[in-house]
Amino acid sequence: MAFRFVWGSTMEKLKRATLLKEEKNGSRGVPDIVNIILVQGLATLVQNVQKVEKASGTFARYYATPFLRTMGLCALDLTVPYSWDPPYVYRALKDFAFEAGLPRAGLTLCTYKVIMGFFRSSQTMTVPRGCPALDPSIIWANVLHTSLSNKQKDIAWMSAHMCLPTRSFMYKRHLARTERCPHGCTDSEHIHHLFWECSVARRVWGLVVSSVSQNRFLPRSSLTAESVLYGPPGGCKTPELQLQWRIQNLLQDGVMVDFHKNKCKREMGGGALERTDHLAHPPKEREPIQPPMREL
Ligand SMILES: [Zn+2]
Ligand SMILES: [Zn+2]
Repeated sequence: MAFRFVWGSTMEKLKRATLLKEEKNGSRGVPDIVNIILVQGLATLVQNVQKVEKASGTFARYYATPFLRTMGLCALDLTVPYSWDPPYVYRALKDFAFEAGLPRAGLTLCTYKVIMGFFRSSQTMTVPRGCPALDPSIIWANVLHTSLSNKQKDIAWMSAHMCLPTRSFMYKRHLARTERCPHGCTDSEHIHHLFWECSVARRVWGLVVSSVSQNRFLPRSSLTAESVLYGPPGGCKTPELQLQWRIQNLLQDGVMVDFHKNKCKREMGGGALERTDHLAHPPKEREPIQPPMREL
């Protein structure tokens, strides 16, 4: 459900593991349901162990103290019976905790919030493909910048991850018949082509840079093949840079993506694009149904 909501279709364009990270780490911050359930289970177990009077406490102590002790989360009382062979539910929690590296974390408190915080902090940042030169934290800050609208953020995020459905991207997934750019270029239409190398992109940037009123906001020097995808290389620190990045995104969103989509849809036909073909050519009027002739 959550993944379909993110992509708007059944086609997933990035690994799920990437989407589950926090937004500032280059992801979408989709909740990891399995992880949440396991962490809740673990936190409840640790709480139960501490309940001295209750039966659930005794049960939890009998099975869980041997492995919780190794994580430093409770003490093992050797005067009461305990088991090294916990039931499968506890075993799942134990495996999860060990895989996640909780024993080495040295947590003293084991509430849901603390464990979740530990997971969040141990996440690594996703580095965009094909862009090792820039600091990824600046890229993700640019992509998430508050001056952009949600739609612009989506497009910027997908371009940074190179998962915007360009023809080259769709061709590799057997969703388009050709990867050639539909604007008459000989090159395949990958993301760099769409926003930078394509004749249409060149024309749009040229118009903006050459127009007197826009030139003040978007100087020619600010436009590079990288800044078009990832935003200003030093981050959006000043209001001028923010405005530049916003204008760039406006153009990328409005002019390129929409113009491009409409054109590609009309030309490609077939497959996933049938819906739009249907709109472009309204269905022929049905012939009126003749009443069946009665035999005389
Ligand atoms: Zn082109
Ligand atoms: Zn195109």
